Amino acid sequence: MKLRYLPLSFLILVTSHSVAQPKHGHAHEHGKGRLEISVDANQAIGKLKIPLEALVGFERAPKTEAESNAINTLNQKLQNPGSYFVANKDAECSPKLISSTIVRDQAGKHADLDYQFDLNCAKLASLKQLSIDLFAEYKRLKEIRVESVGPWGQKSVTAKRDSSTVRF
Ligand SMILES: [Zn+2]
Repeated sequence: MKLRYLPLSFLILVTSHSVAQPKHGHAHEHGKGRLEISVDANQAIGKLKIPLEALVGFERAPKTEAESNAINTLNQKLQNPGSYFVANKDAECSPKLISSTIVRDQAGKHADLDYQFDLNCAKLASLKQLSIDLFAEYKRLKEIRVESVGPWGQKSVTAKRDSSTVRF
């Protein structure tokens, strides 16, 4: 009897694979990033996505030594998320990098930084706010839409150059 189900499961496998095609087109707005923060009882994880243009001024693969250096410098700085994401002190957070990846579109014209970090807070229940200190260094960055999910529910706010601290 069991054998009769095999062709069906094979079909599902093939179908779900074909759904995973690369998305058509590319939608990002230069100067605007997006940060998702999810907080549960054990951890606070941040997922940041920023058009690369806002960070280094170009998005295609680097062509000159200066451009390669700009990417290397960016990568080095991103090793320490604690210099860009500062929580309220009593939460005792020391952010750790999870991953930092540059994702280019198929045409090689646009690219995003995909950046994930763990806020790594000793007193997670005290986490109330987060300062996003990317704006001072990256002048092309205009705003970051911050969407958070945590004990406070869901919240969506926009951090800007002149108001870069987000409260939960
Ligand atoms: Zn772009």
